[in-house]
Amino acid sequence: MSAELERVYRENFKEIKPPLKPEEARLEASRCLYCYDAPCVRACPTHIDVPRFIKQIASDNLKGSAKTILEANPLGHSCARACPVEVLCEGACVYHEWQDHPIQIAKLQRRATDYLHELGGAGPFKPAPDNGHRVAVIGAGPAGISCAVYLRRLGYAVTIFEKEKVPGGLNTFGIAEYKMGRKVSLAEAKMAFALGVKLSSGKEVGKDILPRSLLEDFSAIFIATGLGSTQRLGVPGEDLPGVWEALAFIRHVKNRELSALGSSALTVVIGGGNTAIDAATQSKRIGTPRVVMAYRRSAAEMGAYGFEYELAKQDEAEFLWNSAPVRIIGRKKVEGVEFQKTRVKGGKLHLLPGSHFTIACDRVIKAIGQSQLRDLAQAMNFKLDKDGRIAVNPETLRTSVSKIFAGGDAINGGKEVVNAAADGKRAALAIHRFLMPAAELSPENRYWARTIESRPAEALHA
Ligand code: SF4
Repeated sequence: MSAELERVYRENFKEIKPPLKPEEARLEASRCLYCYDAPCVRACPTHIDVPRFIKQIASDNLKGSAKTILEANPLGHSCARACPVEVLCEGACVYHEWQDHPIQIAKLQRRATDYLHELGGAGPFKPAPDNGHRVAVIGAGPAGISCAVYLRRLGYAVTIFEKEKVPGGLNTFGIAEYKMGRKVSLAEAKMAFALGVKLSSGKEVGKDILPRSLLEDFSAIFIATGLGSTQRLGVPGEDLPGVWEALAFIRHVKNRELSALGSSALTVVIGGGNTAIDAATQSKRIGTPRVVMAYRRSAAEMGAYGFEYELAKQDEAEFLWNSAPVRIIGRKKVEGVEFQKTRVKGGKLHLLPGSHFTIACDRVIKAIGQSQLRDLAQAMNFKLDKDGRIAVNPETLRTSVSKIFAGGDAINGGKEVVNAAADGKRAALAIHRFLMPAAELSPENRYWARTIESRPAEALHA
C-alpha cells in the first residue's frame, strides 16, 4: 500500500467510536442502576442481560461479563460496534427519563468482548457430546455463525458452506471500516470454529455444491445466505462502466483496492438506506470531492437512521430528494444521470411530467436493496413470500420444507447484525426441537434457550 493510501486510511477511516479506557469503563459501569426488568434488555433482540454484564465490569470481572454477553449473543463482539444502539438498548435506557446521557452500553460491551478476544483461546463455551445429527448452515455471516455456535453447544456436527474464501458475511465485507474492521468479525468466526464448527469456503451452494446433496447428507439445513446482489434500477445505461453496486464498492474500499474503483470527481449514490449512506460517506473518505445522494422520496421517508444521515452531512455529502433516476448517460462510461422529480399522491409515487434534469458525474453507486435468492428456493423447493423473502414460521423460522430453516436478511429483507444473531439462536433451538423432540436441555443450554422466549425479564430472573 502506498504511503498516500496509508495516510488516507489512517486519517479518514479511523474508528468513529473509539473504545473506553479501563478506568472510564469502570466509572461508566458504576453509573448503571442495574434495573430490574431493564428496558435495555427488552430492547435488545437477543436479550443480553445488560445490567448483569455491566455489574461484572464494575467489579472487574471482564471475562464473566463477556460470557454473559456471548451467552445471549455470539456476535456480541461485532454488535458492540455495528448495532444502532441509539434505537435499541441505549435508546431504551432509563436515564433518558431524566434527560441524562444513557449508559454507554455498546462501549461497555466492547470493553468486555475486546478483553476476551485479547485473551485468545476457544472462548467461554464447550460443545456438548456428539448427538449423531449433522446440520448444514448455508452462509457464514452473522445468522449462520450464531446458529452454528448454539448447535455445537447442543451437540450437533455443523458445517457452514460459505461462497467467499473467508467467513463473516456482511460483517467482514459490508460494514464501513470506520465502524468495524474485518479482524473483529474474523475473530468472532474463529471462536465458532474453536467450538468445532467446520467451514467449507470458496464454494457456492447452487453453483459448486448441489442443493440436493445437502438435503440428502444432512438432518437439517439452516439458510443464512443474506440477500442476493443489488436490485437493478431497470433504466437504460445501467451496465456502463463506472456503475457500481454499493456492496461491491464498499468491499473494494474495505479491502483497500482503490485502484479498482478508479478516481471520481463527482459520484452519485442512488438510494436512501443505511447502505446508501455508507457508500456516500466512504466515497467522501477516499477523497471524492463531490458526492450526491439521490433518493426518490423525501428526507422524512428515507430508510437510513437519523445518526447515519448526520454522519453523511458531517462528511459533506449532498442530498437530492424526490428524484428518481430514469437514465444513466454515457458512451463508453458513465457521464451523468438523468432524473425526474417525483411526488407522492394517494400513497403512490408519481413521476412529474416535464421535470427531467441531469447531473454530470463519473461514478454511480446503486444502493437500492438486494434481490432475493430465487434459484435456491427453486432448487430446494421452499416457498418465498410476496416480497421475495424466504417464507418462515416466525416462531420456529422453519420454511415450507420441514428440514429447512432460515434466518437473517434472507427472511427479513435486510436488518441489523443483532437481528441475524437472534434468528440464528431461535433457529438452533427450533432445529433441536425438530430433530430431538424428547431431549431435555442441559443446564448449560437452558439459559440462552430461555432468552428466545418473548418474556426476557422472566427468563433472566428465573
Ligand atoms: Fe443500566 Fe440503563 Fe439498562 Fe437501567 S436501563 S440497567 S440504567 S443500562
